[in-house]
Amino acid sequence: MKVQKVISIIAIVASLTLIIYMCAVMAINSGDTEVPGNNLLITTPSSGSDSTPASGDAQTQSPGEAAPGTESPTVTGSPESGGTTSAPVTAPPDITAVPGGKTSANPAYAGKKIIAITFDDGPHGTNTPKILDMLKEKGVHVTFFVLGENLQSSGQKAILKREFDEGHEIASHSFNHPDFKTLSADERASQLQRTDDIIREVTGSAPVLFRPPYGNYNQDVSVQSGKAIVLWSIDSRDWDHISAKSVSNYASANGISQDEAKDKLINDVLFDGFTYTSGGKEYTNPSVVSQLSHGSIILFHDIHPYSGEAVGKLIDYLKQTGEYEMMTVSQMIETEQRAPQAGDVYAYMWETYATQKKNW
Ligand SMILES: [Zn+2]
Repeated sequence: MKVQKVISIIAIVASLTLIIYMCAVMAINSGDTEVPGNNLLITTPSSGSDSTPASGDAQTQSPGEAAPGTESPTVTGSPESGGTTSAPVTAPPDITAVPGGKTSANPAYAGKKIIAITFDDGPHGTNTPKILDMLKEKGVHVTFFVLGENLQSSGQKAILKREFDEGHEIASHSFNHPDFKTLSADERASQLQRTDDIIREVTGSAPVLFRPPYGNYNQDVSVQSGKAIVLWSIDSRDWDHISAKSVSNYASANGISQDEAKDKLINDVLFDGFTYTSGGKEYTNPSVVSQLSHGSIILFHDIHPYSGEAVGKLIDYLKQTGEYEMMTVSQMIETEQRAPQAGDVYAYMWETYATQKKNW
């Protein structure tokens, strides 16, 4: 009798425990499913200079050099109605980004300011190796957004290998720089695949970041790339203001030497700012230094002869002030304890898919 009573009490306690346990499990599971990214506190850059509406003056570029154009990021247009609207974009995980982007959520980076320098359109046979020498000497790592068409010969692949071996990040900028919003799904796939294949052949893995030429993308491009889209928050306009042609024109217009002209124009880009005309309208490009903030992504092009020198001077300045650390784009994103992933769109460190998708 007594034994039976004890056994039935144990049975009751055991089943109650089981019920409580199951309820707890269900509660945890349902909690997980309602996480979708709205804990994110994400702010947009205050200057907004990245969206300067400098309309396409890519026709001023020499045809052979995969015109970098103005590459101002524009997020417009609805996704094409054709087939590929499936594949939901992964929601960002529950991270704590920081309002204003002034300090890092990651304790290891608390109080530190970080920026990423990026180079597009390379590699270039002579300019890129010089840039690599400079970066090695200064101990700074950058991100190269490379074009597949510049990775055809063994010499070009050797430069890519060197970029990788020396600790820089290799990212995709397409095969030959088309506007992705004008391409079919098949054409986009080919642009991405051919470039990935070469990068994988040289470095052992495909890139996780994609910068669409001219910053032109839409939801289809984002989904199809399967990579995080990385734009920029500071456009140096090096491809225009300190191109070989601009330096030469400035020297002859002002009766000064090439070197003097180059120094003056590099100074404009980094410290003084300048104006430029596009489509008959005048725009101001503030200096790179005046636009810096924690999380900036800065755009240069390694195919131009003076861009490396400009970046060298920028690095010297940043080291002297000691305010910013420089690293690759992925390293910068990872300081927030989060790997870059497909569906993200970064114009700067704090901006992700969550803030961009509303424009689609
Ligand atoms: Zn480009």
